[in-house]
Amino acid sequence: MDLSPIGETIQAIKETLPEGVKLVAVSKYHSAEEIQEAYLAGQRCFAESRVQELLEKEEALRESCPEISWHFIGPLQRNKVKYLIPLVSLIESIDSERLLDEVQRQAEKRSQKANILLELLVAQEDTKQGFSEGELLDLLEQWQRNPERWHSIELRGLMCMASHTKDEEAIAREFARCYQLFQEIKERYPLASNIDTLSMGMSGDYPIAVREGATEVRIGSRIFGDRH
Ligand SMILES: *Cc1c(COP(=O)(O)O)cnc(C)c1O
Repeated sequence: MDLSPIGETIQAIKETLPEGVKLVAVSKYHSAEEIQEAYLAGQRCFAESRVQELLEKEEALRESCPEISWHFIGPLQRNKVKYLIPLVSLIESIDSERLLDEVQRQAEKRSQKANILLELLVAQEDTKQGFSEGELLDLLEQWQRNPERWHSIELRGLMCMASHTKDEEAIAREFARCYQLFQEIKERYPLASNIDTLSMGMSGDYPIAVREGATEVRIGSRIFGDRH
């Protein structure tokens, strides 16, 4: 079968990824048709950063692309959590305790387990979100002391974004710090002993992230072109 340009790019990226590193196609601002092209090339996992957009695309593609799994990667308001829980396989952008409480509430209501990543702030920019290292460790201490509080939540790992800079060494240091913390919490916290996902690296910096130990890369514009 001839692949579309989107499909060719996906194949080319996949060939550069080591085994065990998962490609998540970030389809935000792109159309359902473009997602379908990627799907036809074998891509199954897609990520969106706005709830409304995800709901619309999920509905549009439910029948034609039944094997899609959706990740959510954007800033998340608590009042939108209820819409995501039934539809997404992973929420990557958990950045506060209150958000975790709401995910717990909605997952429990549906007798479901919600898979999440905790977002770690490693970039030197105030525009980015996430827990600081200290906050992350405090949260895990709490979780460990009182596992009941978030019992409907499965902690799968960490997500981070590096600083927006051309300084590749600075980017590598941020990813390396994230990897180190990922390993530390795996060893230190029984509740995290099964975590398997370190989500880092985007179009501009994913080769660096892969070298620093990412298990998942989130690639948008490199696959779909510029966002309008
Ligand atoms: C948009 C986005 C991406 C993808 O960015 P590209 O540079 O287009 O690859 C990855 N992760 C997050 C959290 C995003 O918001």
